[in-house]
Amino acid sequence: MRNKKKQAGMRTISIQHGDSFSDETGCIMPPIFASATFQSGNKHNFDYTRSGNPNFTILERILKSLEDAEYCTVFGSGISAITAIAATLKIGDKILCESNLYGCTVRLFEKVFKKFGIEIIYTDFTKKTNIEKISRINPSLIWIESPTNPLLKILDIAEICKLSNERKIPVVVDNTFNTAFIQKPLELGATLSIISTTKFINGHSDALGGAVLSNNQEWNEKMIFSQKSLGLNPSPFDCWLITRGIKTLPLRIEQQTKNAEIIAKEISSHKLIEQLIYPFNENHPQHELAKSQMKMGGSMITLKLKMDKNKTYGFCKNLQYFSLAESLGGVESLICHPATMSHASVEKSTRDKLGIDDSLVRLSVGCEDVVDLLSDILVTLENI
Ligand code: PLP
Repeated sequence: MRNKKKQAGMRTISIQHGDSFSDETGCIMPPIFASATFQSGNKHNFDYTRSGNPNFTILERILKSLEDAEYCTVFGSGISAITAIAATLKIGDKILCESNLYGCTVRLFEKVFKKFGIEIIYTDFTKKTNIEKISRINPSLIWIESPTNPLLKILDIAEICKLSNERKIPVVVDNTFNTAFIQKPLELGATLSIISTTKFINGHSDALGGAVLSNNQEWNEKMIFSQKSLGLNPSPFDCWLITRGIKTLPLRIEQQTKNAEIIAKEISSHKLIEQLIYPFNENHPQHELAKSQMKMGGSMITLKLKMDKNKTYGFCKNLQYFSLAESLGGVESLICHPATMSHASVEKSTRDKLGIDDSLVRLSVGCEDVVDLLSDILVTLENI
């Protein structure tokens, strides 16, 4: 087996995937191991693809190296990865969540795990006094995203983890919006760093996947158990696509971030934009924290438009280069209307309280020419 390239830089790690499990052919890209089962007694102990496959292992090694983590388990989607963790809880356990999470995470907790006796409590973790609730509530898990979807709130991961670690409460950080290229939750003290590899990690909107990373052997065993006993495994083909996608992760994120920074600067004072939320903009409420916690501002921008629902929808539909679609993080620019799409499953009263209303849109800025993206937004706003 070739070495793990742990010491190498992130651009190198993204490209060099190590063992291809096909040394005798000299192939540069590993094959797709489209085998459901493996002959007993094989050198690598592969057994049955629900619990492991060379394409899983290759992807897990890259993700581990990128995050400097000891363990990684891949899943069929981000939501499968979340399910794998939540399924380790038992009746009466509590999850203390950031009040703004991805809508389908909330739906999974509220509509599935609540039925099995798990209590879900929400709090605004940007407030220091709420971080202190950790000791009072004493939950079985803390669940956060930073930046949050779609409000791009930045939470102090190190501060939340410090208090939780003192009390031995595991902290789960959903790092989907950043990836390890921008922020490494485990280094900040998180117990589990999870990611939807469907988004930036793959980057081409052609595969679904998720992963859980940790430095904790017990959690690693739990994740392997969840993968095989709940049937949350990905497909070898999707892992192969994601392994291919990762090769350009640094290039894509850098370009996407450059584009997003320019767009955020150029449109922030437009008369039809009430508020532009971008973590590295000076007027972001947690701007200083964002600068210290994230390597760069990323390519997600949230806008609160001075428009009603129809006009906001019209804006989304009329853009030429931003497709109105679920998902984010691909090379192509997308726009999402969270109230009717990614967060439609969150109760309206909760959405209203959080500020996820009909005039809120979320941009995922891609790798296109920024002049085209910018003029697309400006012309569409002009014609609304
Ligand atoms: N976590 C976050 C922050 C997300 O935005 C998403 C999807 O948009 C997920 C998890 C779920 O990922 P998947 O769609 O791969 O299940």
